[in-house]
Amino acid sequence: MFNKILIANRGEIALRVIRACKEMGIGSVAVHSTADADAMHVRMADESICIGPPSGTQSYLSIPNIISACEITGAEAIHPGYGFLSENANFVQIVQDHGLTFIGPTADHINMMGDKITAKDTMKNLGVPCVPGSDGGVPTLKDARKVAEEMGFPVIVKATAGGGGRGMKLARTADDLEEAFSTARSESKAAFGNDEVYIEKYLTLPRHIEIQVFGDGKGRAVHLGERDCSLQRRHQKVFEESPSPVVDAETRARIGKVCADAVAAINYAGAGTIEFLYENDEFFFIEMNTRLQVEHPVTEAVYGVDLVREQIRVAAGLPMSFEQDDLVPDGHAIEVRINAEKLPEFRPSPGKITQFHAPGGLGVRMDSHIYDGYSIPPYYDSLIAKLIVHAPDRPAALARLKRSLDELIVDGVDTTTPLHRALLEEPDILSGNYDIHWLEKWLETYR
Ligand code: ADP
Repeated sequence: MFNKILIANRGEIALRVIRACKEMGIGSVAVHSTADADAMHVRMADESICIGPPSGTQSYLSIPNIISACEITGAEAIHPGYGFLSENANFVQIVQDHGLTFIGPTADHINMMGDKITAKDTMKNLGVPCVPGSDGGVPTLKDARKVAEEMGFPVIVKATAGGGGRGMKLARTADDLEEAFSTARSESKAAFGNDEVYIEKYLTLPRHIEIQVFGDGKGRAVHLGERDCSLQRRHQKVFEESPSPVVDAETRARIGKVCADAVAAINYAGAGTIEFLYENDEFFFIEMNTRLQVEHPVTEAVYGVDLVREQIRVAAGLPMSFEQDDLVPDGHAIEVRINAEKLPEFRPSPGKITQFHAPGGLGVRMDSHIYDGYSIPPYYDSLIAKLIVHAPDRPAALARLKRSLDELIVDGVDTTTPLHRALLEEPDILSGNYDIHWLEKWLETYR
């Protein structure tokens, strides 16, 4: 096992990894920008080291600074958290070239899944159901027209290198195609330096359902059921639950096995998430994330496992501590993301927190790095807390979420808590009847 792990991240996820290190008796090294000198992850880690000025590109994304921090502190492995360098294959290669261990999959697997056309091809060949679409990239408008007309409108033009909802454009009819095609290409070129796009059938009322998988890198893999993340604003998830209100045990076992077998076949190592759109009882693969997800705690709650501990074990060459038959879901979990943002515009609201009280009690988990007097810096994303509740069933989890939100106090900055409170009054949310467009539509009338 490692003696010391460096966490190449900040905020709640850095704390999450530090907690796992402490419980495993492993030393932890926090890295931080000058803007984060007072951050909680810096206080909680065994050691800390400054890696640059506030700008992410000069600190949390600076590969030379992070490698130097490992050399100075003697850390043997790096946990990337999510975001920042977590899906950067070049970083993984450099980490290995320096004799260090990356806690996550190989550079090859990250490359394979980071290029969406390759990812789709790979998954299709492994028997994972995919959204109907073009065979690979679509180089010209003429090709785009041909594919779209064969498939039928609406279609969605997507960047091969895409991520975070960028480089993705909908064409409802043939008249929209030219613009969708050229904007998707130029957006992708600007954001990712690559203008290759492909085309998919646009599913009109799907849910977003993702399967958590975990592999040992040696041909064994398991699944840990699904998370339903259909409530999204601008492709950003705001409310996540497990199990999905629309997936039964038989369906879970079937799609879960398809996913576990697929990642086992490629010798995938560590945690991964296979994302699907789900419509008319069918799953359609859209992408695989080769890292720990923000919403991993709902899976941890329902399956009673520590996914970060497991990531560290597998990276250290130990076997997984569970087999598929050990993984039996129990109860229902919901996570809401609490952002420092002013509603209804969702405008970032950095600043000083004058009072903070975290909810507690049975079945309540609060993953957060904020504290009384903490100043949220304006340079990073606005997530300040994840509130996760677990209860025997969905109605009990909803009730627990409501009372936990009532206990939460964050003064001094605006947060998205009122949005979550309002959502819990909605009959569709209470009955689980929502798709990926529900929230955007509802927000049009939310003031
Ligand atoms: P990104 O990597 O940029 O997040 P994804 O491929 O994961 O892109 O898609 C993000 C979101 O875009 C999905 O959760 C869904 O809301 C929407 N989307 C993507 N592909 C389709 C499709 N074929 N039909 C309908 N909606 C889609």
